[in-house]
Amino acid sequence: MNFHILTLFPEMVQNGLNTSIIGRAVNAGLLSVETVNIRDYAFNKHQSVDDYPYGGGAGMLMQAEPVYLAYEAVAKRIGSRTAEKKKTRVVYLSPQGDVFTQKMAEELAAEEDLILLCGHYEGIDERVLEEIVTDYVSIGDYVLTGGELPAMVIADAVSRLVPGVLHNDVSAEFESFQDNLLEYPQYSRPEEWRGKKVPPVLLSGHHANIEKWRRQQSILRTKERRPDLLERSRLTEEERRWLEEEGGLV
Ligand code: SAM
Repeated sequence: MNFHILTLFPEMVQNGLNTSIIGRAVNAGLLSVETVNIRDYAFNKHQSVDDYPYGGGAGMLMQAEPVYLAYEAVAKRIGSRTAEKKKTRVVYLSPQGDVFTQKMAEELAAEEDLILLCGHYEGIDERVLEEIVTDYVSIGDYVLTGGELPAMVIADAVSRLVPGVLHNDVSAEFESFQDNLLEYPQYSRPEEWRGKKVPPVLLSGHHANIEKWRRQQSILRTKERRPDLLERSRLTEEERRWLEEEGGLV
């Protein structure tokens, strides 16, 4: 998986992604994170990349041409090393996009290359967005100063789904949002901590009972914390009956 991140602040993105699990995966060659400084494609001697918006209004806007040239350079590089004709997906991080979900992360993890475009100031001239962007993605209903943190969020969530990145691929399989359920509570040593004991079933060694307990805990936790998700989860008839006995969805 190769991330190509178009940004005015490449060091911010590199520093954010070069530690821990993602940093190790990059060193192991499982991922690559290329940052492209849009300022390198400025066409004036002051290397400025922003200007006032037509029609007035607060703030500055990133101009179309440097963004386009930065994109074009990356697209050419990708094109020259792959035989694929398909256009590489270009994700513009924007509060106006579809809100990022685990499902989107799974879909993006299937791509070989991904271009992430970070805006700054008041955003980017609409014309270049129309020209190059395939996906508009938001990380939530709030406004940040730039697309760098959202790009890192997406790169992180997608990277951990790339085979080999987590070492233990199972840990990416049974996690929150799989089947629209949140993960069950987990415990580690000691068996008793400040008077609080680990649920006995987890010490029983009985795998079927442990699985059943975890699934029920997932359902209960989702009901309590994210009832909107539970409505979309695929429960068995037996689980539905059990949930009714536990008081139903409300
Ligand atoms: N004027 C824009 C608007 O109202 O839609 C907001 C611009 S914001 C201050 C600057 C940049 O931060 C955006 O171009 C985008 O790349 C990024 N950004 C801000 N909030 C975001 C969010 N919730 N999700 C993804 N990107 C975001």
